[in-house]
Amino acid sequence: MTTLLLTHPACLKHNTGEHHPESVSRLRTVLRHLDREEFHFLQRDQAPRATHAQLELAHPTRYIEAIEAAVPAEEGQFNSIDGDTMISQGTWEAALRSVGGVCFGVDEVMQKKARNVFCATRPPGHHAETAKAMGFCFFSNAAIGAIHAVARYPEVKRAAVVDFDVHHGNGTQEIFYNSPNLFYASSHQSPAFPETGKESETGVANNICNVELAPGSRPKEFRAAYEEKILPALRKFNPDFLVISAGFDAHARDPLAHLRLGTQDFVWVTEELCKVANECCDGRVVSVMEGGYDVDALASSVAAHVKTLMRA
Ligand SMILES: [Zn+2]
Repeated sequence: MTTLLLTHPACLKHNTGEHHPESVSRLRTVLRHLDREEFHFLQRDQAPRATHAQLELAHPTRYIEAIEAAVPAEEGQFNSIDGDTMISQGTWEAALRSVGGVCFGVDEVMQKKARNVFCATRPPGHHAETAKAMGFCFFSNAAIGAIHAVARYPEVKRAAVVDFDVHHGNGTQEIFYNSPNLFYASSHQSPAFPETGKESETGVANNICNVELAPGSRPKEFRAAYEEKILPALRKFNPDFLVISAGFDAHARDPLAHLRLGTQDFVWVTEELCKVANECCDGRVVSVMEGGYDVDALASSVAAHVKTLMRA
């Protein structure tokens, strides 16, 4: 068993318009890196479409229908949710593949067909709340994957999402907040979009763990956030399944944020998270791509992350 890479060509058809940071070229460059010789041993498959029932694990029917109804009739047209969350003709299919990939990844891990999974999909998901698209996100991919694991597999009593994207995953937090069997931990720059994720936001049963990092924070502060807070909280929660919201915009070269991480820090945090998963849940991990807006830094960071998953 090895790492399974899930993606789908439809994720390259979610057009966000010219000069948008969440661009098609992000995923195109990531996939080019993952085509290199060193990734020869990856298993590869296409991300299936999410079912309506999977979307409804986190979102009400009327919201799902409103997103579908906002898809423009013609290619080249756009509808904007909040000024930067753009819907084009390809958005619906891409969003379904992004949710479907995480759920299928959970199935493949649970059925021992893959050791762990990386979903190279877009749009990202962690800003999407129960009934609110925002921050380039429509459906809460990682949250739905974790809920799917609990809903479908009796041996999964508790599922966790750990999010090292530089932005707080307000959507995942909102969806998990009142569910003691779902855990969400995030390290993020503060202040920064979306201005949520205070350390005082702890969920109904200490099932939320936020660590705020000041702009300019370096690897030392990032690693301390995990060693002192997130990893102990995750071990205490003792998940039966771990989903990683893998955003790479805490990289020093990222244009949308101001942390100073490098590729090695993403390797380190991936190793640490896989260690906890090995201790708690037989290494069951599905990682899903969130942000990362310097295309080259994103692609090399994803490559390093996936290589680490392959060694886990
Ligand atoms: Zn982000």
